Amino acid sequence: MADAIRTDDISPMDIDARVDAVLQEMTLEEKAGQLNSVDASSPDPGSRLADDIRAGRVGAVLNQVELHEVCALQHIALEETRLGIPLLFSRDVIHGFKTVFPLPLGQAASWNPDVVREGARIAAAEAAATGVRWTFAPMVDISRDARWGRIAESLGEDPVLAAALGAAMVEGFQGDDLSAPGSIAACVKHYAGYGASEAGRDYAATSIADNEMRNVYLPPFKAAAEAGAATFMTSFGDIDGVPATGNDYLINGILRGEIGFEGLMISDWDSIGQLIVHGFCESPQEAARLAAEAGVDMDMMSSAFVDFMPTLVREGQMSEQVLDTMARRVLTLKFQLGVMDDPYADVHRHGTPPVRDAMAVAYQAALESLVLLKNQDDVLPLDFGTLKSLTIVGPLADQPVEQMGTWVFDGDAARSVTPVTALKEALSGKAEVKFVPGLTHSRDIRHDGFQAAVDATASSDAVIVCLGEEAILSGEAHCRADITLPGAQLELVHALKAAGKPVIGVIMAGRPLALTNVIECFDALIYAWHPGSMGGPALVDILSGAQTPSGKLPVSFPRSVGQIPIHYNRKNSGRPPEPSKVIHIDDIPVGAGQTSLGMSSFHLDDGYQPLYPFGFGLSYTSFEYGEVQVSAPEFASGESLDVDVELTNVGERDAIEVVQLYIRDRAASLTRPMRELIAFQRVSLKAGETQTVRFTLTETDLAFSRRDKTFGAEPGWFDVWVGRDSTTQNGAEFKLTSAQ
Ligand code: BGC
Repeated sequence: MADAIRTDDISPMDIDARVDAVLQEMTLEEKAGQLNSVDASSPDPGSRLADDIRAGRVGAVLNQVELHEVCALQHIALEETRLGIPLLFSRDVIHGFKTVFPLPLGQAASWNPDVVREGARIAAAEAAATGVRWTFAPMVDISRDARWGRIAESLGEDPVLAAALGAAMVEGFQGDDLSAPGSIAACVKHYAGYGASEAGRDYAATSIADNEMRNVYLPPFKAAAEAGAATFMTSFGDIDGVPATGNDYLINGILRGEIGFEGLMISDWDSIGQLIVHGFCESPQEAARLAAEAGVDMDMMSSAFVDFMPTLVREGQMSEQVLDTMARRVLTLKFQLGVMDDPYADVHRHGTPPVRDAMAVAYQAALESLVLLKNQDDVLPLDFGTLKSLTIVGPLADQPVEQMGTWVFDGDAARSVTPVTALKEALSGKAEVKFVPGLTHSRDIRHDGFQAAVDATASSDAVIVCLGEEAILSGEAHCRADITLPGAQLELVHALKAAGKPVIGVIMAGRPLALTNVIECFDALIYAWHPGSMGGPALVDILSGAQTPSGKLPVSFPRSVGQIPIHYNRKNSGRPPEPSKVIHIDDIPVGAGQTSLGMSSFHLDDGYQPLYPFGFGLSYTSFEYGEVQVSAPEFASGESLDVDVELTNVGERDAIEVVQLYIRDRAASLTRPMRELIAFQRVSLKAGETQTVRFTLTETDLAFSRRDKTFGAEPGWFDVWVGRDSTTQNGAEFKLTSAQ
């Protein structure tokens, strides 16, 4: 490293002083160079990238995971630039690196921060060993639209659940110390409101009112910042006319000013350049200024900062102080990660977790992500002891790549254990397993494989049919207007049903699919999302009853695309649906008078309820909930309230129940949702065991961003419910008598 940035005389702990010492030596161009993040994977970036690094125009490099290449690029930065400031290497490590965990949406179905944290920890360690020290995850965009391909990457529709799991992911990636072996910086994205893209079409504009932004979209970002996230990323979106990357109100105002985030904000890919495409400014120079003024520190892939920041400062359009603040944040991150002191990717220092350990975590995550949606006549679990023959069918039954899902640039498909492999192994020597795909891929429309699948089913005890979406059908820029099963999968299920054997559906998909037209065909249905490396064994252990399902839906499942956006935490409306008056279009008498159906809020052809509600998931046991008991009829600011419920496992299997507590603030200065998840607990109960589950509420649990934009609760009456999903009627009431 060049002499100019020696900071040996300053305590390694005093990062601020070390950053200042480096900054003092830097020219405007060198500072601007640190703000530039470029891609190494685009076609032939090779020599241009090396030249740019040499010229001091690069601060961070995306998408280089070949250790020798990482070291070669780092060598250029260290030895061939004036100051020798090391590069920072980044990658989208979204749900695993070599070992793949379920899609984030699948992980959210675990409702288990511990399993999410553990997965991120493994992913971080595997990535760090290749030189990656910065991931672009977690994505905590609240998503209420199953058409949006990126719902797969989200943690679902609920602010409290996404906040808890997003924070856990940050903790997993970063550990206690960013510079420790195996730690990488998290990047919380996409700030903010990206998930509300109009019509669920990626990158489309959004219009989010401030109340909704603050009470629905921002809480997970706040939680991730409070969990210590080192960096954030802006969204591609245009929010009410102001693109997120130029949104001073959201970044400087709320994130830095109100939430107190002090870390680095990076743009999304070329989203500074796209300020021009949005129609927000006319030139790249103006785009650079607007983004910098809004609070963006680093530019991913538009080169506007590196090209124009020095000019903006020299022309007096931007103060050098702003540039210094931006460069300071980049350098601070490099010091925090230890990259300044230990710049070369060091596989020995970081080590990789043993594959066996990583796969054990992947198994647990997959297991907890599986949601049992239907189990008619307790067809599951199957008795593997008495089965003679089982058929497994479907385009996703044996697809190592597809079961990993979207965003798995580095996923090792050789680690994927498919349902077919796992089933054959589990039943080896006990029962015959026949695998007949029926369809070659999820969009296949040919029926010529059906007969073989039906014949095999007819001579088996049951059929397992693995359906869904290939990985390419969800994720960034992969949105769908029709969210039913693609291809001829519906017809395949109908054909199998006609064989007269129990049909056990397994759906692997990156979104909630609209299953109304197929659900009747299944005797049992397990929603598996894209379950990752260990999807097969986890699934087979649920099928056999070696394990009991505990997953719960992190999103509502619409009956049809027309219901979207559909989410449990909706407002009541002045004319809410009256269940007894919700009529179906086919039942309306011909010539009925205009007001004869009642005047309330529902769809004539699809009612108002989803097919499966938020929080829903069956078990192989039954849990009985006692009445909700509140410790007092009222409580005041500064006090707390206990909400107790007796939970009994009345079935014959030990199992885990996710106990969910919802409230409704009956009247407030801003109308509040009919139900809001406030807390949840995963409770493990042995067969026959009873436990009192206690939630302790304080005023903060009832708080929201009020009409005057202050955060706090408001006195008044609240409903509280504790139960197995968001439709529970098991409730009580209490009053908050005073609030801050
Ligand atoms: C995505 C980000 C991602 C980035 C870098 C963008 O297109 O929106 O989520 O982190 O690319 O790959």
